[in-house]
Amino acid sequence: MSKAKVLKYDVFVAPESPFNGPPARVANSDPPAWDPKTATLIFGERDAVLVDALLTIREATALAKWIELHERRLTTIYITHGHGDHFLGLPVLLDRFPGARVVATKGTVELMRKNTTPDVLDNGFRARFPGQISDTTVLAEALDSMQFDIEGWPLVVVEAGHTDTFNTTSLHVPDISLIVSGDVAYNRCHMFASATTPESRTEWVAALDLLAALRPTAVVTGHKDPTQAMCRPRLTSHENTSNSTENNGKRV
Ligand SMILES: [Zn+2]
Repeated sequence: MSKAKVLKYDVFVAPESPFNGPPARVANSDPPAWDPKTATLIFGERDAVLVDALLTIREATALAKWIELHERRLTTIYITHGHGDHFLGLPVLLDRFPGARVVATKGTVELMRKNTTPDVLDNGFRARFPGQISDTTVLAEALDSMQFDIEGWPLVVVEAGHTDTFNTTSLHVPDISLIVSGDVAYNRCHMFASATTPESRTEWVAALDLLAALRPTAVVTGHKDPTQAMCRPRLTSHENTSNSTENNGKRV
């Protein structure tokens, strides 16, 4: 297949969402809310690849409509890691795009399986977001290579090890100097650190160094303050050459 002339990406941000959680430990603090989540569409002339699938039925429905606006064939959905807020929206997306293949690393698939048992779901996301999570779940297919492509452009999996959970990954798109980081990096919101230890935090720092060494011009994080543009890990003369647009239509 010949390589598309242009590769672009666009970012959908699902806003902060309140959830049923334990009472706040700090007096007068805000009620519990899940930080805004991102899904990133990488697209060529005909095809598109989605990175991460959001959480609730309503979020995934809005995401599906937004994907349709790009008028590309959704061939693949890549899941960065096995936390439900990045993949429980899959059944809604596959209803709309039945031809899309859902892929992830073997480690992510393993964690997706553990996190979709009825017990874990009923005491976890279904308790926090009652009536808002799909009744069905979908697991990804394990990739047998750390690279796949869109219209001839390579998309490279970066295994990050234990960051906010086990076996996390980011996706690197070298030709447009983009990293879609999943939850390896955050953009001005809360890091999920409760599943870490001093040792695993060392591993997390090493993973960030690994991403920085790829010298991306933009990093789309799994959670972000929606008023912020992409993370810009380095300032270079290429700073303004990105093909990206945010979903507010503003070029960044
Ligand atoms: Zn997350």
